[in-house]
Formats: sequence, structure tokens, C-alpha cells
Amino acid sequence: MIIGKAAVLGAGTMGAGIAAHLANAGIPVLLLDIVPVNLTDGEAKLGYTLESPQVRNRIAASGIETIKRSRPAGFMLDANAKLITVGNFTDDIPKIGECDIVIEAVVENLDIKHKIFAEVEKYRKPGAVIASNTSGIPIESIAEPFSEDLKKHFLGIHFFNPPRYMKLVEIIPNKATSGEIACKVAGFLDQRLGKGVVPAKDRPNFIANRIGTFGMMATVHEMMAMGFTPTEVDQMTGKVIGHASSATFRTSDLVGLDVLVHVNKNLYPAIPDDEDREIFKVPEVIEKMVDQKLLGDKTQGGFYKKTKNAEGKTEILELDLDTFEYKPQAKTKFESIGAARSIEDTAERVRKLVWGDDRVGEFLWKTMSRTFRYSANRIPDIANTIVEIDNAIK
Ligand code: NAD
Repeated sequence: MIIGKAAVLGAGTMGAGIAAHLANAGIPVLLLDIVPVNLTDGEAKLGYTLESPQVRNRIAASGIETIKRSRPAGFMLDANAKLITVGNFTDDIPKIGECDIVIEAVVENLDIKHKIFAEVEKYRKPGAVIASNTSGIPIESIAEPFSEDLKKHFLGIHFFNPPRYMKLVEIIPNKATSGEIACKVAGFLDQRLGKGVVPAKDRPNFIANRIGTFGMMATVHEMMAMGFTPTEVDQMTGKVIGHASSATFRTSDLVGLDVLVHVNKNLYPAIPDDEDREIFKVPEVIEKMVDQKLLGDKTQGGFYKKTKNAEGKTEILELDLDTFEYKPQAKTKFESIGAARSIEDTAERVRKLVWGDDRVGEFLWKTMSRTFRYSANRIPDIANTIVEIDNAIK
């Protein structure tokens, strides 16, 4: 598929990141967002009005500035930003008529997405691919009000954050999506954007977030049942078992506990036939953390909190889930983990730990076996074969 020009609708975390990555592949991009309703002090001082283009395109432009500053960098070269033209939905939507692919990444709200796609329906180029980056709204319900021809060209293209670095992209056709178009999109994502494309079914949270959230919740429930602390769980669930070094709770602090709770709360009512859905009920202690705004890095404290000690050195504190006070992080000396570190092969290391005759072995067996069983039971519900689940999760 030849993509001469792309449009990205929404210049937030994902939209700006996707636009940057398209530009990294040498593709000119039109990036649109809403028109601001107020002037900033700086704009007023410069004599701009709400009619000035600098103001009208400010939100899309600031999305690009955020990506330029992001670390790790969203642009391979800062100069790639020159391939992106910013604009706004009110003045510039007809320009999508020049684009071979349109990717929507506005707020996660069905009404707002419908309004945007109603405009897309009017101005799209015949034959252009039309996609949504939604993480949780059914693709079928986004496509529902539109023409058969739009539905044929429409699918979910689910990038992960940050789009340049996260290899996985799930593609989710709706019932009417042309198979030929879905295949061409997969080829484009693979060959031009360097992504690992996984076809997913239009089921709640698709593949990676469905299984990933399950694994996270299995870990939280087992931590409470076995009386471990978040630090101890992170000692068991990080690099030593082949996961990211942020393990379970440091990852939660990075993502934001509110996001995790939101995903769980949307998921639960959407999967009445799921045999293990009770796991997605958010435990009281997590609800309490959200109520107290202990969300993670965005509120300067979640499961962990960074502070400076009396000598001015950075110190990591951990939340005591009984008292809700932060205390110095206490690592436990797990002998089995110490011994496993010298095993180079990850599979061998995991085997050794899981079959270990200690609390680490018991914890890892309970959480991993439960997650594997759940994954296997999701076939053919969320994917046709176990291969898609493995590819999404790795
Ligand atoms: P965001 O809040 O960073 O950006 C949303 C953008 O929508 C903003 O630029 C905002 O100006 C715009 N917007 C707000 N109100 C609007 C309106 N009425 N009409 C049109 N645009 C409006 O959100 P995000 O994290 O980039 O998420 C965007 C989409 O991507 C969502 O559907 C989300 O589910 C999905 N997604 C997010 C992630 C993630 O990790 N953040 C990952 C994959 C997919």
C-alpha cells in the first residue's frame, strides 16, 4: 500500500507520538486538534486573538513540542517535525481529502469520536484507510453510524505508548472491513513503521491490555492473599522472570493507578461470560489509593515515592498498604532469587523459580499459571490462536 500522506486527528500523547513516528518514516502528516477557547497570557501579550492561526492551531502545535522534548525521543531527528503540518478540526478538516490514511486519536469518548468520523466521512479521499486508535471502545460501535463504504475502509489500529518504541500494534477489523485493506494496512505498519502487527478481535481491551490487566490483577490479589509487600512482589516479577525491570508496581506508578482502575471498571460489565471476571473487581486498598490520589508519578507518589533524605540523597519510600504511610523501602533477601540470577537462560531461570519449594515459587506458580490458563481460555474469543496472544504479550 502506498501512503503518500497521512492525517492524525488528535495531538495528545498518542496522536502526536503517532504523527512523529509517521514522520520518522518519511511520511508527510497533517495533525489536527481542537481550537482553544481562551487565549494564554503570552498570546494576549503578543496581540493575538482567537482568530489568529497561531492560537487556532496551538493545541496541535504544542503536541509536537511535547514530542520534541519527550525522552526517550519521539522523533528520530528533530528535523522530521518539518514533515508535520498542524491545523485544527474547525478550519482544516477538508484537507484530509489529500490523505491516504486517517488515524483518529482523540479522547476516549464515543460521542466525540462519532462527531470526528462524521467529518471524516464527508471529506475523506476515496479508498483512504480510516482508523481509530481507541484502547477500549468497540470498533464496531465507532463504525456503526457510517456508510458501508467507510466501514469497508475502517479498522482499529491500536498503537501503544510511546508509539516510536512500542513494537506492538494491534489491528482490529470490524465485520465489514475489507480483508484486502486489513492486509495492506498490516504490511504498511510492518514494512514502513517497523511494527510487530497482531490481528485482534473486536473484544473488550483487545489482546495485550486484556491479558496484561489480568496478570496485573492476579498479582495484586495474590500479593494480598500471601501477605507480600509491593517491593517484594517487584523483586519477584521484574527482570528475573524476563519482564521489564519496572516489574508490577513501578509499572503501575509509571502508567497511573487511575488508568488501571478505569480499565478494570470498564472491562467488568463488558465481559459477563468471562469465567474469571471477578479478578477485575478493584480491591478496596486500590480504591483507597485512588481516592487519596496516590496514583503514581503523576501525583508524586503511588506504590513508591521518591524523596530526599537528610543528606540530600534520593531515597525511595514504599507505601505501607496497612497504615497508608510511606516508609523506607525494605528489600527481602529471597535466596531462590539470588541463586536464579546466575542462570542466564530466562526460561530456565523461570522454571527454577516457579518449581522452587519456597514462597517465591508458590507466588509465581499461582500468578503465572492462572494467567496462562486465562490466556488459553480466551481462544477463540479474543484471538484465533495462541500465537497472537504470545506475540501481543512478548
Ligand atoms: P490525550 O488526552 O493525551 O489526547 C486526547 C486529545 O483529544 C487531546 O489532544 C485533546 O485536545 C483532544 N480532544 C479533547 N476533546 C476533544 C473534542 N471534543 N473533540 C476532538 N478532540 C478532542 O489522550 P491519549 O492518551 O492520546 O488517547 C487518545 C486515544 O488513544 C484514546 O482513544 C485512547 O484510548 C487511545 N490510546 C491511548 C494510549 C495511552 O497509553 N495513552 C494507548 C493506546 C491508545
